[in-house]
Amino acid sequence: MRYLILSDIHANLEALEAVLAESPAGTYDRLIVLGDLVGYGADPNAVIDRVRALNPLAVIRGNHDKAACGLDDGSSFNQIARFAASWTNDTLTPDNRQYLRDLPHGPVLIDDHVEICHGSPFDEDHYIFDGNDARRALDSSERVLCLFGHTHLPVIFFDEAGHLTGMIPEISHQQLHLRNGVRFLVNVGSVGQPRDGDPRAGYATYDSAGPTLVLHRMEYPVEVAQRKIMAAGLPQTLANRLAIGR
Ligand code: ZN
Repeated sequence: MRYLILSDIHANLEALEAVLAESPAGTYDRLIVLGDLVGYGADPNAVIDRVRALNPLAVIRGNHDKAACGLDDGSSFNQIARFAASWTNDTLTPDNRQYLRDLPHGPVLIDDHVEICHGSPFDEDHYIFDGNDARRALDSSERVLCLFGHTHLPVIFFDEAGHLTGMIPEISHQQLHLRNGVRFLVNVGSVGQPRDGDPRAGYATYDSAGPTLVLHRMEYPVEVAQRKIMAAGLPQTLANRLAIGR
């Protein structure tokens, strides 16, 4: 089975379309989304419609999805994120708002090897930044490969006989071969709002026949997404950050 794995799209239709053009139907079997379909970007409905039309195997909710559909009051958000969540809530169609409300929380088990979560397997809203977070996550994950998002920072942690290693992917198509006795915890990056200084959309593909995971980066028309953010009346910071990937 080949999976296309997307996280943190954040209503960025241009980034999503670029990724889907690079990985068209037929190059993968099923789509998996790790949450934060919306928030920050100008196209929440178009992004949700596009994802729904692809009949994904699994979509779990992110903190911005919860805030945008009223499941969370956004009190933990900064002012700009809260403004964007409120704008998104006003902009969503009733059907798409309900779709977000009905999304399950992670972790979700995908197959015998893979599980997914938004923040971490022990708390959907917890950010995995360092080795301590990664250790906790690996200890609570039930599969040898746990995929997460939320920080918008691609990273690979692996645990070999209790020895934890963290690795930042450095090439555009970073390959990872699963091997016996090693457990992996991988942030697949953010499609719509990367924060590692690389503005290209980040996503992953997984082939259970390897089993192999590949972390990808893909250029997209950032300036189009920026213009839409400005035209929507969303804060300019949200447009600016897309160009620098922060
Ligand atoms: Zn996010």
